[in-house]
Amino acid sequence: MPDPLPERVEPYRLARQGRTLRGSVAGLQLARLAGAVEALDGDAEAELSFALDAGGVPHVAGRVRARVRLVCQRCLEPMDLVLEAPVRVAFAVTEAATSALPGEYEPVVVEAGAGLALAELVEDELLLALPIVPRHGPGEACAGRARLEALAEAARPPGALAGIGALWRQRDRR
Ligand SMILES: [Zn+2]
Repeated sequence: MPDPLPERVEPYRLARQGRTLRGSVAGLQLARLAGAVEALDGDAEAELSFALDAGGVPHVAGRVRARVRLVCQRCLEPMDLVLEAPVRVAFAVTEAATSALPGEYEPVVVEAGAGLALAELVEDELLLALPIVPRHGPGEACAGRARLEALAEAARPPGALAGIGALWRQRDRR
């Protein structure tokens, strides 16, 4: 079990120091995420490397991870998913200053001397990683997919595939 991440950090100082933080965020601190899924399984984990990039931009890069239960929109049965997302965030002290940040970063405003709530950052990234339409993946049992496949099979006119095959053969001869 990883140690909890500190609640608030000073991102500009951590970036200057080139610090990497690894740890967990308690599920209880992730109310927005918990509200967006069927169930949140345990704590979230994060690895966050603060640094100044070649252009001197204070940023944090890393990964966030959490296990959630969603409802498959094809079969309406529960599905477990490991949410995992890369983090690439740059910091600016004012909203106006974010326009100067390189486009590869997601901008986050943290006033000079103000702290950054890590749980909030981790939760934001996990929310962004949620699938818009959750569906069982390939290799997972999904009653809805089996139904769809049966429907597609039934709807296919007899001989349609043979016709396509003939078309391909014609094209090859040209
Ligand atoms: Zn399904």
